[in-house]
Amino acid sequence: MARYTGPVCRLCRREGEKLYLKGDRCLSEKCAITRRSYAPGQHGQERKKISEYGLQLREKQKLRRIYGILERQFARYFALAERRKGVTGENLLQILESRLDNVVYRMGLASSRAEARQLVRHGHFEVNGRKVNIPSYLVRVGDEIKLREQALESPRIKQLVAQAQDRTVPEWLEVDRVKMVARVKALPLREQIDVPVKEHLIVELYSR
Ligand code: SF4
Repeated sequence: MARYTGPVCRLCRREGEKLYLKGDRCLSEKCAITRRSYAPGQHGQERKKISEYGLQLREKQKLRRIYGILERQFARYFALAERRKGVTGENLLQILESRLDNVVYRMGLASSRAEARQLVRHGHFEVNGRKVNIPSYLVRVGDEIKLREQALESPRIKQLVAQAQDRTVPEWLEVDRVKMVARVKALPLREQIDVPVKEHLIVELYSR
């Protein structure tokens, strides 16, 4: 289960917008996009005309980076999205949203998807009563995702639970804030996914 381990602010600077990969720092003045809002590298400040292919590629990279997924896994998700009924771009977003690490993030229990991924890896969650420590686990409608009681022994998790009380939860999840249990009411619709991506460009890229 490989993941990107390099500098993440660089990824936002490459995409030219905040991807919120670092939790609280993203909301502070220390955000690299606030301080240096141009692409990284020696030629980062040069103006370049971007081709159609370039636009499609950037959208794909942006989406991949938001969810913290590497190329091969992303291509697998795309193939899965194509096989499902409906609009491929929307299916792709739905699949990404159904990842267990993303659900934990959406529950408000982590400040970033990277942190949510770590919490899942450390075995702090169960799905339908069984411990699951696979961040890419895809939840289904009706599944119950619960923070395990043992997890509350960690001061960081206690702090995250306290912070989660005022976080907004998407409509497709029903969250019990006391027991820290989420139930998947439905898979999210496109308008319920607040990810700033033009998914049709990604579909065009893979159709080349
Ligand atoms: Fe991106 Fe957050 Fe780094 Fe800002 S602080 S550049 S939003 S990862």
